[in-house]
Amino acid sequence: RNDRIVVIGGVAAGMSAAAKAARVKPDARITVFTNEIYISYGACGFPYFLAGEIENEAKLVARSIEQFRAQNIDVRVGHEVLKINPADKKVSVKKLGTVEEVDYDKLVIATGASPFIPPVEGVNLRNVFVLRNMGHAMELKNYISREKPKNAVIVGGGYIGLEMAEMLLKLGCKVAIVELAPQIVPNMDEDMAAILKEYLEKNGVEVFTAEKLMRIEGREAVEKVVTDKRELVSEMVLLAVGTIPNSKLAEDAGIELGIRNAIKVNTRMETSIPDIYAAGDCATVRHRLTGEDVYIPLGTTANKQGRVAGENAAGGNAEFAGVLGTGIAKVMNMEIARTGLSARELQQHGIEYVETVILARTKAGYYPGSEKIYIKLIAGKQDGKLWGAQIVGGAGAGKRIDVFAACMHLGATVDAVQDMDLAYAPPFSPVYDAILVGLTDLQ
Ligand code: FAD
Repeated sequence: RNDRIVVIGGVAAGMSAAAKAARVKPDARITVFTNEIYISYGACGFPYFLAGEIENEAKLVARSIEQFRAQNIDVRVGHEVLKINPADKKVSVKKLGTVEEVDYDKLVIATGASPFIPPVEGVNLRNVFVLRNMGHAMELKNYISREKPKNAVIVGGGYIGLEMAEMLLKLGCKVAIVELAPQIVPNMDEDMAAILKEYLEKNGVEVFTAEKLMRIEGREAVEKVVTDKRELVSEMVLLAVGTIPNSKLAEDAGIELGIRNAIKVNTRMETSIPDIYAAGDCATVRHRLTGEDVYIPLGTTANKQGRVAGENAAGGNAEFAGVLGTGIAKVMNMEIARTGLSARELQQHGIEYVETVILARTKAGYYPGSEKIYIKLIAGKQDGKLWGAQIVGGAGAGKRIDVFAACMHLGATVDAVQDMDLAYAPPFSPVYDAILVGLTDLQ
């Protein structure tokens, strides 16, 4: 019948793939295997769950096993796929010590990613945490409620490290961030990251950049973090130094890997082996501006790629448009966002550019709650093509990045979008929105 669709992984990409496949082909026999107990949850909500702003973990779950079952999707939790055998079109699945062979006609690999653990002494001590899946979130939640830590060290100054800094501060913890790169948020430029660093320091977070984690010390639990420059007394450590794609299963099956060892996919989410698709944090994605394969693991992409994989596995013909590397995060009352390429990335690509950084307000200056907003814009030196935008600012600043993302998605030049008819009323923006101020200044 050619209708057995097997999906490996039950979070963003996996469940999007299964749900889309069921809509496209309602009589397909769809089975999802996940080695976790929870499915379809929003890991992006973990920091807010840990801060107590979301009352329980169930609220993070988008749809239940029963809801998927009603859509004719068989979700098997606690099932680990050990092996893919493309020659016989089978997967080996382990549940409680028994291994079963399951046939597929189409396979979607949505195994996600794992936190990178730096190879230093002490990472196995008690109270050293990572945050990636629901199990990690529950472990951290239990620890925080039980021990109420007073000092925490976060290793890694990316989005997750920063969101967790906010969370720990809210819980009354003293927080230090240790970042190996010369700046925090390494996917932004140094000048923009510096604004956030200053804000964090003003709010009591210690930020140590260009500093290397050497080891974590303690008898059983964490007592001290040692870097190449100092020692920090701490009761807990969060390692947030990046993610590595779960691509070993695919590699062992002979599937080609691409950049950063992620599973290489084309715009249809096809891997190098027929009838096997991959999507989400385990897979590569095409950058719209450079046309290159990149590895930018994000929930927004995982959902979209999952949908495309699911549609094609069900016999459809979908393509994924690619990404711009758009990202956003909130750290206390500061919002940071970026899209396109940073100045550093343009230099690496040998592209000549012009840039500007402007300071404006999020609302009319006289309106209550008007905050500072910094926008950095980058355009091609010769052709004025918009290459990148970065924002740091108060409430309402961050989502302005979407305007730039939309412009870049359509390949706009600065001239073409300078007089855009953007909405204005005092509670939302000054009469010239910061977006237009930036574009005019870049001219
Ligand atoms: P995963 O979520 O990793 O799911 C893969 C699943 O497959 C897991 O359950 C895994 O256990 C299972 N699996 C792996 N191997 C096997 C196997 N062999 N057999 C069976 N099951 C297997 N993204 C954003 O866009 N915006 C945000 O604000 C944001 N915030 C985040 C905050 C935090 C704290 C974290 C951790 C992530 C955040 N992300 C955010 C990233 C986002 O959560 C991920 O991009 C998304 O979860 C990826 O989905 P996925 O389905 O590809 O992979």
